[in-house]
Amino acid sequence: MACIFCEIAAGRAPSYKIYEDADSFAFLDINPAAPGHTLVVPKSHAAMIFDIDELSLRRLTSAVKHVADRIRKVMGADVSVLQNNGRLAGQGVDHVHFHVIPQKMPHVVRLGHMGPRAPDEDLKAMTEQLKF
Ligand SMILES: [Zn+2]
Repeated sequence: MACIFCEIAAGRAPSYKIYEDADSFAFLDINPAAPGHTLVVPKSHAAMIFDIDELSLRRLTSAVKHVADRIRKVMGADVSVLQNNGRLAGQGVDHVHFHVIPQKMPHVVRLGHMGPRAPDEDLKAMTEQLKF
């Protein structure tokens, strides 16, 4: 079966389109976390952020900014932007997409899951593991 986001971005499947340029396509999430929740996808298929080339990602994030600016201006909302990769991260469709979520009362989506202050030894060990 064809990728649903490829079908939407090509105009072969219906969507509530709010933005389109040569490389990117933005449409309302039909299962919105809050009213105005928008998905921004590249027109070329890439399953996850690991699979998209740098130039396409730059163009995509530029589209994300356009959409976030628009939502902020039109809705008077704060805006959350998130992007998930893999099932445990919450990715439901295997085509790279950014969520642009208006944050406005009464529909505020709590996304911050901050834990307690981590011990410095743990932070140092993680830095050693992750740094380039
Ligand atoms: Zn696709």
